[in-house]
Amino acid sequence: MATDAILPTTTPPAPAAHGSVLPASLTPALIERLAARVVAAPDAARVVTSAPYTGAPLADLPVSTPGDVEDAFARARVAQKSWAATSLSRRKKILLRFHDLVLARQDEALDLMQAENGKTRRDALLEVVDIAITSRYYARNAARYLEPKRRRGAIPLLTHTTELRHPKGVVTVVSPWNYPLSMAAGDAVAALTAGNAVVQKPDTQTALTALWSLELMREAGLPADVWQMVVGRGSSIGGALMDNADYMMFTGSTASGRKIARDAGERLIGASLELGGKNAMIVLDDADIEKAADGAVAACFPSAGQLCVSIERLYVAESIRDRFVAAFVARTEQLKIGAAYDYGIDVGSLTNPSQLRTVTAHVDDAVAKGATVLAGGKARPDLGPLFYEPTILADVTPGMTLHEHETFGPVVSVYSYRSVDEAIEQANATPYGLNASVWSGSGARGRAVAARVHAGTVNVNEAFAAAWGSIDAPMGGMGDSGLGRRHGADGILKYTEPQTVAHQRVQGFTPPAGISPETWAALLTGALKVLKATGVR
Ligand code: NAD
Repeated sequence: MATDAILPTTTPPAPAAHGSVLPASLTPALIERLAARVVAAPDAARVVTSAPYTGAPLADLPVSTPGDVEDAFARARVAQKSWAATSLSRRKKILLRFHDLVLARQDEALDLMQAENGKTRRDALLEVVDIAITSRYYARNAARYLEPKRRRGAIPLLTHTTELRHPKGVVTVVSPWNYPLSMAAGDAVAALTAGNAVVQKPDTQTALTALWSLELMREAGLPADVWQMVVGRGSSIGGALMDNADYMMFTGSTASGRKIARDAGERLIGASLELGGKNAMIVLDDADIEKAADGAVAACFPSAGQLCVSIERLYVAESIRDRFVAAFVARTEQLKIGAAYDYGIDVGSLTNPSQLRTVTAHVDDAVAKGATVLAGGKARPDLGPLFYEPTILADVTPGMTLHEHETFGPVVSVYSYRSVDEAIEQANATPYGLNASVWSGSGARGRAVAARVHAGTVNVNEAFAAAWGSIDAPMGGMGDSGLGRRHGADGILKYTEPQTVAHQRVQGFTPPAGISPETWAALLTGALKVLKATGVR
């Protein structure tokens, strides 16, 4: 559920948790400066966001209108032309400078992410790391992907064929609130590298973090108007963002993704859709139980489970189920939940009231229908208005909402299985297919099982970071989890329009003067046979 609605600033702040007051770096001046970067009229309506840790007001942001979106696109179209003409080496320098700035000023980003999203500092740090990796990767690989490439011609030696990669033009990026830096800057970086301009709508709740990355990119040398941000509800400015886009990069729920796909189809523009999941982890009978239990904690509770690739279903071999569950529950019960702008906390807060409602409803529904709570199972208003305990459930059956629906919270259901075939069948019994995790004492066995799981990424003896961090490889969902991929070649080439330029030299495809069509047909047939016989591909 998007958090574009004005969050109720009347919510009485919860008793301030230790260390949860806004950190010194988030001065009113910084917040005002970032808010001023939103494309909106001076007299725009305002929206006020709340800090998840306390419920207290956080940012007062201008709201963009469809007209503001039109203006942003008009300026972006002008700026894009010179940006596309900027050399790759110049673009690379800007990206690498951005990389350095993000690392140097990471404390500001960590504070912003924690304040807007409620996640722990450790979870926020992963986003900083992600943006550094993405910027370096696309900076250093831009030429490999984007420079003109010679391709085999229609007639060897006589056809000179080149594949060109043109930028799409102006790309719309719609990014959610759960990974406010990764999702906002990561997708923009790839689109910008390819020579596009970007008009972005970050989720309102986490717009400051996105605007911070925009500010740093400008400081790194990106010309004004090449990357702009608007703020508003999808229902208000989504139409203008779609109508003007040359390509749509959307991250959010499957329900919203379907609408975006329909609209993109109507306009005949490409769209990359990174959507929801109901991700499975399979623990094989030869897995190291202690390591797998650590892995399950890392897989299920990052960003309080508000991570598209986090695990919500855990399938454990029956023979080790009890030992695994004991180890997993013990670790989960030791997790430190709370609000603090330091590295001492394991699990942070949910981000918005609707997430808390969903998590509570899913767990209550399951328990009412017979599920057993092995750990957690309740909200923690004593820590702040949106905290929920890391929760492990057993005896979850079809008919309970969370059996098949994504919770997007710190809740996992544990099931057992008798055979590997059964485990794979259960893991694949979902329309989603985003991420999975397989644990085995044998890497080869783990990889073999991984290949049978219907998911865009599968991590062996790791939760999600191994695949996500493999920036050279595609990342994205199968089935209801989306279309298209980020990272690697797919993650940048999708932002380009391929063009084939074929220059025919000396002799074309029509018979030369003096040669009859029959002779010409025989010559062509003979040439084709030679090509096959000599192994030409
Ligand atoms: P959501 O679809 O309700 O909203 C996401 C964002 O899209 C919001 O900012 C919203 O304003 C905007 N939006 C929605 N419809 C739009 C439209 N027609 N035009 C323009 N903007 C529009 O999703 P949410 O509930 O806020 O986010 C959580 C969901 O996102 C979860 O299902 C999660 O799995 C998914 N997600 C997926 C990934 C991934 O990479 N696969 C990453 C993060 C989150």
